[in-house]
Amino acid sequence: QAKEDGRNCLRFYTAELDQVARTRIEIESHLRQARVQGELSLVYQPLVDLQRRQIIGAETLLRWTSARLGEMSPEHFIPIAEDSGAIQEIGTMVLQSAFVQGALWARQMGAFRLSVNVSVRQFKSPDFVPLIAGLMAEAPPELVLDLELTEHLLMEDDHKVAETLLQLKKLGVHLSIDDFGTGYSSLSYLKQFPIDILKIDRAFVRDVDQDENSASLTRAILSMAKSLNLDIVAEGIERPQHLDFLLKHACPWGQGYLFSEPVQPARFDRLLLEGLPRDKDFTY
Ligand code: C2E
Ligand code: MG
Ligand code: MG
Ligand code: MG
Repeated sequence: QAKEDGRNCLRFYTAELDQVARTRIEIESHLRQARVQGELSLVYQPLVDLQRRQIIGAETLLRWTSARLGEMSPEHFIPIAEDSGAIQEIGTMVLQSAFVQGALWARQMGAFRLSVNVSVRQFKSPDFVPLIAGLMAEAPPELVLDLELTEHLLMEDDHKVAETLLQLKKLGVHLSIDDFGTGYSSLSYLKQFPIDILKIDRAFVRDVDQDENSASLTRAILSMAKSLNLDIVAEGIERPQHLDFLLKHACPWGQGYLFSEPVQPARFDRLLLEGLPRDKDFTY
């Protein structure tokens, strides 16, 4: 009887593995279809001047609502798109449509920061700099483009990466490090590369009011950014306590559910018109 259980167990296990593998292949092929069927869309999360509680820009985030697989998280499908190479085409689409939207908001607002996440493979493609150059040439001067890179990319010992960063700087693009503090712990690239902005990962922000270590690390990152003359964005501001802490320590910019989750363009238009809701503070 025990033997039978064991076999069942094994069978169950391989079936599960099979499921994982199949899902990956399925996701890959559905993602190919998604582009044709228009299942991909963009949402925008307000970037907020914390002191003035005003929207100064937006982070562009990709959404995939699959007819077959349901709502798929970018955390899940971006790595798959990266492996299969689909990220090239998807990333180009993201940049092109974000630029059209960002240009509208920039003209309307007089100044607007548009940030777009860039994956490693996309960044390394020979088409990347020409694409950005073309988009920047068309963009209104009020639009500031901010490309979000990962620590992972900057840690690669690759002279091509450094070269591309310089080319992007020449085009007037701002460069930020996303999820700062969660990747490799070497800070040498901050001195090596022309970085403009650090985005403090929400893992730090989440516990600033409860955990002394998170608070110390956040203070340290803020003061380091200040002395290196870098701009800084705190991610994942969810509660008034987070905002209080960040204001107390002079963090200039932030994003998070306290202000707004990522929203569709029409809703973002309304936020620009009406301002951020003040009474959202106590929904958590
Ligand atoms: P990220 O760039 O660090 O984006 C921030 C993520 O945190 C987003 O998740 C956003 O919805 C979420 N978020 C914002 N405020 C809060 C908050 O207050 N609390 C919590 N718990 N979460 C918050 P999302 O949209 O699911 O994206 C996940 C990741 O997928 C992104 O992390 C980014 O690395 C990647 N991604 C999304 N869109 C793109 C894209 O167009 N291209 C590339 N290469 N990657 C993308
Ligand atoms: Mg990001
Ligand atoms: Mg991030
Ligand atoms: Mg992230």
